[in-house]
Amino acid sequence: MSEVFLVTGASRGIGAAIALEAARRGYAVAVNYNSSAQAAQELVAQIEAEDGKARAFAADVSTSEGAARLFAEVDAAMGRVGVLVNNAGVIGGVVPIEEIDAATLKFAFEANVFSAFYCAREAVKRMSRRHGGTGGAIVNMSSAAARHGGMPSEAHYAASKGAIDSFTLALAKEVGGQGIRVNALRPGLIDTAIHSAHGGKALVDKVGPTVPLGRAGTAQEVADAALWLASPQSSYVHGALVDVSGGR
Ligand code: NAP
Repeated sequence: MSEVFLVTGASRGIGAAIALEAARRGYAVAVNYNSSAQAAQELVAQIEAEDGKARAFAADVSTSEGAARLFAEVDAAMGRVGVLVNNAGVIGGVVPIEEIDAATLKFAFEANVFSAFYCAREAVKRMSRRHGGTGGAIVNMSSAAARHGGMPSEAHYAASKGAIDSFTLALAKEVGGQGIRVNALRPGLIDTAIHSAHGGKALVDKVGPTVPLGRAGTAQEVADAALWLASPQSSYVHGALVDVSGGR
């Protein structure tokens, strides 16, 4: 039976690339999405057309109930999750500090941070040897913004990714002895639709040449790193914050 590989926020962008690559490498992929049902179904259809295994699951993982229901549905339809990629995330708007408010902070931190806690909670209950599991791997999606501060007037986003870095280090200590490896990826400027929040393609084209490697990265380049962190090829990599940022 194929190992079950759950990617949150996999309807597009980096999450979709990770889901597709996981299926190509033989995992049974659970494709989580929040609102983009059609895109998620198209991804599942593409995976199946390539003889891979995938199913789409609607769930808002920024809520405790949404994450719990997602894992219960994956249990029933596919079996116990062996790899979790906490990828779902949002920019949460361009908001200068003078205008920051509770709604902005709540939206960014619930989508980017709370979701990772809730999904890790569910994953550990299934992966941990303490709970009868056989171990597993968790990959959290941080950002290079956690260490360079991110785009202008997006402190809420950068700080939420800083929280993911700290969470990754703490969780690695907490569950490493239970057979669960925990790591984070810190992508830099990656060419996806997330940048519609602050200028879209024009922003990517402007900032790309300033990256030491001279260009923006692709979702596939992040996916390759995620699959490595999920695989036995990284068996002694634990509590690592891995930059995929072209040197930026
Ligand atoms: P994207 O194209 O905007 O995709 C975001 C995905 O997250 C979508 O599939 C969206 O699903 C999902 N999502 C958002 N909120 C959700 C929720 N509450 N529950 C479930 N799914 C939710 O973004 P991306 O560029 O691929 O980014 C993916 C991750 O990489 C994010 O964590 C982001 O912060 C991080 N990252 C991106 C970059 C970059 O330059 N692109 C750089 C560093 C880090 P729906 O469409 O169904 O709502």
